[in-house]
Amino acid sequence: MARINLEHIRHAYSAKAKAAGDYALKEVHHEWDDGGAYALLGPSGCGKTTLLNIISGLLHPSDGRILFDGVDVTNLPTQQRDIAQVFQFPVVYDTMTVFDNLAFPLRNRHVPEAEVKQRVQHILEMTDLAGMAQKRANGLTADQKQKISLGRGLVRSDVNAILFDEPLTVIDPHMKWVLRSQLKRLHRQSGFTMVYVTHDQTEALTFADKVVVMHDGQIVQIGTPAELFERPSHTFVGYFIGSPGMNVMPAQVDGAMAKVGDQAIALAGTPEVGNATKVELGIRPEFVRLGREGMPISVGKVEDIGRLKIVRASFCGQPLAIVVPEDEAIPTDAKVTFEKDAIGIYADSWRVGMGG
Ligand code: ATP
Repeated sequence: MARINLEHIRHAYSAKAKAAGDYALKEVHHEWDDGGAYALLGPSGCGKTTLLNIISGLLHPSDGRILFDGVDVTNLPTQQRDIAQVFQFPVVYDTMTVFDNLAFPLRNRHVPEAEVKQRVQHILEMTDLAGMAQKRANGLTADQKQKISLGRGLVRSDVNAILFDEPLTVIDPHMKWVLRSQLKRLHRQSGFTMVYVTHDQTEALTFADKVVVMHDGQIVQIGTPAELFERPSHTFVGYFIGSPGMNVMPAQVDGAMAKVGDQAIALAGTPEVGNATKVELGIRPEFVRLGREGMPISVGKVEDIGRLKIVRASFCGQPLAIVVPEDEAIPTDAKVTFEKDAIGIYADSWRVGMGG
């Protein structure tokens, strides 16, 4: 297990890269705790796999250094980094039994056979493969094979980190839920540093202690699920986390008031927007209150999503989503208020402090 330091890492796939836009991974400078469970979350093409491959050693960064427990491993190949990896698609030895597939990383490192048996048995039970331990892998389904890959990633006890690249893509939905919970439990028991790449927010939020949100080659926030929900650092985080995402609308700020269209909204402090060219107000749909008092809206459609309803409205010409309990009546002349403490002000897409 190791602490991971990413020191001024950047990566461009073209040797001729000069401008920031040429870099698939813009500057990343962070320390990830020993034993942490991190999820790299973001849409396709935002640089998750690039960053994961730099950590694993499959890719050498154009700039910067990577350290495991203070030791520079930037120039070490994958095999010498002592990491386990689980990829999106199964990597198994078809002619071996399930047991032998799982035992392979241990026997390769000359682990005593009694310990091999004990560790493999534990993984067999965890992945629900105990009943087929002596079966050859070639007859198994894609999701059973992926469980073997997952198990092989987890079977060693001496790794610096375990890296997962969208490992549950081929697993059926129910098993996905089971494995995700088991991975979380295993993380708590083992204390391994785990890095898990996904574009699925549910997967990231249930697995990780810290979610690393990436956008356009940049890390825009590292935070607990609660922090990402309550205080998104960037409008992208607000929009990407949550369903529906945060409402973001153009605003003007004057002291402790924000103006959206012709509506004045009281803020919890005085935001420091500096010389920003773009100022926006962000409020999550869960913190917009619907009632007979407040600012006028025009209600569009109402979506029933079980215990809650999503009201799609228009506010000062801007789309506004509002989440209300299923049984709440929606007046035809509904008005809204925004919970003051839940309002964020964003200058050029980044959340600013509220001053005094
Ligand atoms: P996905 O979820 O689709 O795997 P990702 O977030 O993992 O996406 P990356 O695969 O890291 O994103 O890609 C980041 C950017 O780098 C993208 O614009 C992609 O087109 C580009 N890229 C990735 N691999 C290469 C490569 N081998 N050569 C050139 N460009 C690449």
